[in-house]
Amino acid sequence: MNKASMEKIVSLCRRRGFIFPSSEIYGGLSSCWDYGPLGVELKNNVKKAWWQAIVQQRDDIVGLDTSIFMHPQVWEASGHLKGFSDPLVECKSCHLRWRTDEFEGNVCPSCGGELTEPRQFNLMFKTFMGPIEDEAGIVYLRPETAQGIFVNFQNVVNTTRKKLPFGIAQIGKSFRNEITTGNFIFRSREFEQMEIEYFVKPGTDKEWFDYWLKERFNWYIGLGIKEENLRLRRHDSGELAHYARECYDIDYQFPMGLSELEGVANRGDFDLVQHSKFSGKSLTYLDEDSKEHIVPYIIEPSAGVDRSVLAFLCDAYDEEPDKDEIRVVLHLRPALAPHKAAVLPLSRKEPLAKVAKEIYADIRQCWMAGYDDTQSIGRRYRRQDEIGTPYCITVDFQSLEDKQVTIRERDSMKQIRIPISELNNTLAAKLNGEPFEVLPPGGSHWLGF
Ligand code: ATP
Repeated sequence: MNKASMEKIVSLCRRRGFIFPSSEIYGGLSSCWDYGPLGVELKNNVKKAWWQAIVQQRDDIVGLDTSIFMHPQVWEASGHLKGFSDPLVECKSCHLRWRTDEFEGNVCPSCGGELTEPRQFNLMFKTFMGPIEDEAGIVYLRPETAQGIFVNFQNVVNTTRKKLPFGIAQIGKSFRNEITTGNFIFRSREFEQMEIEYFVKPGTDKEWFDYWLKERFNWYIGLGIKEENLRLRRHDSGELAHYARECYDIDYQFPMGLSELEGVANRGDFDLVQHSKFSGKSLTYLDEDSKEHIVPYIIEPSAGVDRSVLAFLCDAYDEEPDKDEIRVVLHLRPALAPHKAAVLPLSRKEPLAKVAKEIYADIRQCWMAGYDDTQSIGRRYRRQDEIGTPYCITVDFQSLEDKQVTIRERDSMKQIRIPISELNNTLAAKLNGEPFEVLPPGGSHWLGF
């Protein structure tokens, strides 16, 4: 059973420096969040894991980093200016605003008051480029990263000579003036996306759609999300976006209920056809077999960085009975854990502190790590468990004599003792998944209990 309630996750994130409300000293800014020292590590690790799986480890996908401001015609071509809106109603008594597709009935879900007629509210943030605030200077903050990929299709084809099927991937900020926000970082007005646009020959789109749906589902499982907390949900024809031929959501069992983590859509040739029409440029691909210019179809897996961070936190969160107390632990996979190890000297005094600091400096050459020399060792283990540090390295008085340290594993709380000279190699092996029971090379002795 998932033990994470939203209150517990929000409280842990604040207390331990994962996530703070934005501009908190001014009372915060609705739906905006700041990632703290541990949060930025977790978030970067999520992005790194995605980039490795999607760009680094495949030779059919290349990366891009496109600008947030784009030519205003992009949003005309994409349909966002006309269609990227939600139906908004306002309560005539309490003045709260709602999306009509988010509740049933026709009275205010908060106070039961009478609602205004729905009006379409465009979700794009508008601003002005240059010193004059007039129509000609209007630009938008992008509401998705995908359009930056479509408009660079020809640049990528020309410079990389990729053959179909191939993909372009991008991670970046997107902005939506959402009517209702909430559930912590689940829905905010500024967020990050990880998007793939995968270009395929028309006719092969169905099989690539199925491939990507499976691939993306398995990515979450590979990083530790429990399969029973994930669901695939097919959009019925009424729900499909105007550009989509088929769409599935990958939903996660968040504390507030099953909600979208990622969308996978078959966009057909809509985007390239539209941008070709509006820009007057040919956006086709020369098929070497048929010698014909074709417009590829696009399969789009579109994930949210912040929603992934929230899902990984919720899934990793656990409360375990430990003696008379409860041990709060984040069972994050090492790849995602903000700190891979923490050095805990049993005393703050010399010469122990010097040895511990040398070890700390040494492991930091390879990994993000922590150092904690305050309070009892038990409390320090607890603090590291709570932020998901996979390994604690305890330096004790014996270490001065035998040049060995104790490594304690977060999940099993087992301990092994190894020579300091083997620490980095052993940590590397364990972080890579080597079972903790295995005796490290050199035959050090086992302290498991
Ligand atoms: P929702 O129905 O929840 O508003 P959506 O269907 O509009 O989401 P997409 O346009 O498919 O979302 O965006 C792709 C992904 O971007 C989503 O699966 C989600 O992970 C992320 N995302 C979209 N909007 C937000 C937001 N306001 N805050 C955080 N992440 C978001």
